[in-house]
Amino acid sequence: MTKPFEGRVALVTGSVRGIGAATLDHMAEGGADVVVCDLDGDAARATAATIAERHGRRALGVACDVSRTEDVDGMVDTVVRELGRLDILVNNAGLTRDNLIHKMSDDDWDRVISVHLRGAFLCARAAQRVMVPQKYGRIVNVSSTSALGNRGQLNYSTAKAGLQGFTRTLALELGRFGITVNAVAPGFIDTEMTQQTARRLGFEPDDYKAQRAKNIAVGRVGVPQDVAATIAFLASEAASFVNGQIIYVSGGPETRR
Ligand code: NAP
Repeated sequence: MTKPFEGRVALVTGSVRGIGAATLDHMAEGGADVVVCDLDGDAARATAATIAERHGRRALGVACDVSRTEDVDGMVDTVVRELGRLDILVNNAGLTRDNLIHKMSDDDWDRVISVHLRGAFLCARAAQRVMVPQKYGRIVNVSSTSALGNRGQLNYSTAKAGLQGFTRTLALELGRFGITVNAVAPGFIDTEMTQQTARRLGFEPDDYKAQRAKNIAVGRVGVPQDVAATIAFLASEAASFVNGQIIYVSGGPETRR
């Protein structure tokens, strides 16, 4: 049987670990050649080598700060030169710099907005230059339940809500070229990001997870593979009539927390 991503090239930003790495692993298993992008080039190349070995696909590791135009344009040029095309872009790179507004610095605000929003813009702009002539593309943006409001995350919540408008608008602009644009909005997923949050709040990560799981309808926190599977559906050919949608991957409907 043909694999769902056979012949496709997938680029996921911020993909040496967590949701990004799980997404590339899922797509490589489905037959895609993959691009690992991260600030740390050595880590990106190491993750690419692991995926290549595990799935027998071509895998490229690229150092890239998604908030820098020259890094992003250079990365997409390299992808096309080395792998011949670019079919799937997942704007996943992200960070948190949480604080209440009176303690939030200019840099905390600027860095979070820049990586999530400017990063998604730069990567999508570079990718569509390749996808439009191909008349095929899938762009998936990683938003968050924090887009609905989360105390202490003014910068992050604003960026993740912004990504939802970005998704809907880009879907309208690129649909006619065979390119769909959707977003996933994960809830609490067990990754380095949420483990860091736990420690910052003074909890052991396992205790924090158990506490958070009590408020999740399915009674557990998410794992990166939960999000990877949803991203993979949106990035598949089967999802060609799903466009401009925000899919919450959070174990339950969003209610006031
Ligand atoms: P993670 O394990 O911390 O992974 C984030 C990755 O992004 C890291 O590898 C990080 O690289 C990379 N990155 C940060 N800034 C970058 C930049 N400027 N350019 C390129 N790469 C950069 O976090 P995760 O939990 O898997 O999160 C992945 C995405 O899901 C993020 O957008 C996050 O906001 C979103 N999300 C996560 C959760 C959750 O509960 N975990 C919930 C909702 C949404 P370095 O390590 O080198 O800094």
